[in-house]
Amino acid sequence: MQRKLVLSIIAMTILMAIFSVSVKITEDVNNKRLVQEYTYSTRTVGNINTSIAPPTQKAIEYHNKRVNLWIFSIAMSLLIPIVFLFSGLSSFTRNYCVSKSKNLLIVVFLYFLIYSIINTIIDFPLDYYSSFTLKHSYGLSDQSFIKWAVDYFKSFAIYTLVGACFISVPYLLIKKFPNYWWFNLGLLLIPIIAFVTFISPMYIDPIFNKYEKIQDTTLERKIYEELDRASIKNCKVYQVNKSVDTKEMNAYMTGIFNTKRIVLWDTTIKNLTERETLGILAHEMGHYIMGHVWKSIVLGGILSIFIFYLVNKGSIWVIDKSGGIFGFTELCDIASLPLLILMLNIFMFIAQPAINTYTRYTEKEADRFELELTKDNEASASAMIKLHETSLVLPSPGIIYKLWNYDHPTFEERVKFANTYKPWEQGKPIKYGKYIK
Ligand SMILES: [Zn+2]
Repeated sequence: MQRKLVLSIIAMTILMAIFSVSVKITEDVNNKRLVQEYTYSTRTVGNINTSIAPPTQKAIEYHNKRVNLWIFSIAMSLLIPIVFLFSGLSSFTRNYCVSKSKNLLIVVFLYFLIYSIINTIIDFPLDYYSSFTLKHSYGLSDQSFIKWAVDYFKSFAIYTLVGACFISVPYLLIKKFPNYWWFNLGLLLIPIIAFVTFISPMYIDPIFNKYEKIQDTTLERKIYEELDRASIKNCKVYQVNKSVDTKEMNAYMTGIFNTKRIVLWDTTIKNLTERETLGILAHEMGHYIMGHVWKSIVLGGILSIFIFYLVNKGSIWVIDKSGGIFGFTELCDIASLPLLILMLNIFMFIAQPAINTYTRYTEKEADRFELELTKDNEASASAMIKLHETSLVLPSPGIIYKLWNYDHPTFEERVKFANTYKPWEQGKPIKYGKYIK
């Protein structure tokens, strides 16, 4: 193994350590600011409330634990593939698969299956803690262990089987087009993501929860009136029984073509007033109007081309410098999968702040659309506060955590915007007036 490879691993470890310390410092500074800034103790009484309550000690503690978990999970996402490569486990697994079949497609399928099983076993304690224990100990969920375990197994089975079936695609491309497989793969991803987005609402989502028409008929009527005001036709609105999984609230927009839909968690309908729910829905309608699902599919494909290009360059560099110690010398060897995953994790990590900056922008525009459609600032601010406070979200995180984890503007920014954006009161034009009846 060449010196350069050893040095780059040492550099990566040092960078990771500096990054972790910086995250913790910025979080500390931010927590102190929150405690100093949010000092008032009285709150507006009644169902509508437009000011954020001072963050509780419990919320700060929960946030700190999430930050630690995030740092730990980044380390694991780098460590697992590194161990696979350096321990020889990757080439051992490849040899085992080759001994079982001479068919390249079956070898690749088997390798992925084994990799995914080992990876899941290693990640299991972390997954269990973050998605079950932690949420229960902070009162955010009363999901039964059985439901959690069944959902966990289902998603493991789906992703592993789908992954094992499709992993041969990049390897065939690498073999056939060693110099520009990254371009072909990125292009191919656009229709694939579109297809998955299309079928998910119908075939994937119902595997985990029950989707149905909005039960409250008065609310349903008002939603369709709102859709009409936003000039949206053929959009279905569903509710999903997320109360079996969580006490948190949410709504989202998904699907393309005739699977396009807005989905409200039943927890949202149950805990918000009608005005607040209509506000949340108007935000989702904003995503619909502005074609955010389509845009994210296309931009996702373009970004993939760029990231796969870097993955290709990085992987070839590592193979070149490894002197064959990983038990493979070509990228088209399935034993290189941990290396591709390692590179993908590194470059995705680097790209994350840019991706989040874009989505934060789209979320802010959806918030703007919401306010322009409903002109009910109070209800928007109040809904935002209920949604965030129930999930123990702090008004704002530290800057580094925000850049890497916030695909929405911070709670603080969103409430401030909801409370102050009223161009119609000053007779100024609104941005999305052309969509609103
Ligand atoms: Zn949104």
